[in-house]
Amino acid sequence: MNLPDATNDTIAAVSTPPGRGGIGIVRLSGPLAASIAAQLVRLHQPLEHGRARLADVLDEDAGSDASRIDEAVVTYFAAPNSYTAEDLVEIAAHGSPVVLELLLNRAVTLGARLARPGEFTERAFFAGKLDLTQAEAVRDLIEAQTLTQARQAASQMGGALSRRVSPVKQALVELVALLEAGIDFAEDDVELTTQAEIASRIDALTPPLQALEASFARGHVVHDGLTLAIVGRPNVGKSSLFNCLVERERAIVTATPGTTRDTVSERISLDGIPLELVDTAGLREGQNEGMGDGLEEAEQLGIHRSREALADAALVVIVLDASQPLNDEERRLLAAVEGRSALVAVNKCDLIRNLPEVERPLPDCGDLPVLATSALTGEGIPALRERILELATGGAAAEPGMLTSLRQKQAIAAAMAALADAAQANAASIPHEMILLDLYRVLWALDSLTGQTTPDDILNLIFSTFCIGK
Ligand code: GDP
Repeated sequence: MNLPDATNDTIAAVSTPPGRGGIGIVRLSGPLAASIAAQLVRLHQPLEHGRARLADVLDEDAGSDASRIDEAVVTYFAAPNSYTAEDLVEIAAHGSPVVLELLLNRAVTLGARLARPGEFTERAFFAGKLDLTQAEAVRDLIEAQTLTQARQAASQMGGALSRRVSPVKQALVELVALLEAGIDFAEDDVELTTQAEIASRIDALTPPLQALEASFARGHVVHDGLTLAIVGRPNVGKSSLFNCLVERERAIVTATPGTTRDTVSERISLDGIPLELVDTAGLREGQNEGMGDGLEEAEQLGIHRSREALADAALVVIVLDASQPLNDEERRLLAAVEGRSALVAVNKCDLIRNLPEVERPLPDCGDLPVLATSALTGEGIPALRERILELATGGAAAEPGMLTSLRQKQAIAAAMAALADAAQANAASIPHEMILLDLYRVLWALDSLTGQTTPDDILNLIFSTFCIGK
């Protein structure tokens, strides 16, 4: 792994979010961090590892009688016992963008360079303080929008994923060593590892990798969230159901108003999984227009917009009206979602409660799960939530060390493919040298997960998604 150029310089950034705040922090990392800090502010006491020091921020531009423009608390962490493993200084001033900018500019004139996004964490990674899954988790923790996301990131930051991969890697290294030794001593009549022994060792590696791959189903929906479209013809109760789903969860995530002209969307957290709910605004208007002559037109328009929302969504809830027979558009809608993650809510079930049972059969919706709901009475809403959650996670439960990103999933998939090649080569009695090549590919893939063999361009891509100052 090549260290990027210029790791030996000292970097500086404002680590708190842009804008005004109670405090704002300028961070410095690198060999000059402490000496730059000492010139940047007037320290009341010399810097000492792990200690906070009071200091004055001086307005040097004001002329010879430099006056204090702010006060600050300066904390110093000496290499290697810091986040980046380098000398690191954090200057906490009042959160005035003007003062922070002054400090940052002055740090640059004193020899620091402005940090790239994620460069502090990148340095921690290159210094071996964090592996790549942990570094990614730092970013995920900062970006978490639900507590469940934050918990998942914290667990990965603590090394849960790396710990899960490590015994697989250990067993793999043992197998590689066994085969390498056999090759080295082949001419000395040392018995080679048997085909059956190799097969059983390869087989033992497969289930933990499969379990890891399966963990992506939940890990990535917690990480990325999903879009759920609520579709159906006007007046069936889509908006009412939308509100039922939003209402109970509203406290958790801030509402985002509609993203497009035609739809209303809102982010909710369902059992910690961020869901973007999309309801078609056009249909809402259709309800009013429907009172007059515009019904048919509004209905067509509504169905058209439903289709658009439907095309983009990972999950679909089709809403029907329990008191109305299925119409052709609805049949087409049901057919259109075949094979997708979808379910049917037969809403307004309160309207038919008093009918004899034979007169209220649930409509035929093929293989789609169907449940009766009433946005009015709340009946069936908890069940609706549960089914949505099941659809979102594929029923996979939360567990430690889940794969959360496509990058991680691809690394495990590559490891599994190479392992399958090794198994096949072994079954075909191919020489051990060749089996080893496959096994090294497995090792390479596992190491790319934790960053040991991740190409530099991929690393750059990952760290560029961080915020500045982290
Ligand atoms: P949308 O056009 O599909 O979004 O439907 P709305 O949510 O705007 O609802 C249309 C009408 O049906 C409104 O008058 C709602 O109060 C009513 N409604 C919605 N859900 C139910 C329900 O479960 N039972 C009953 N009786 N009325 C409902």
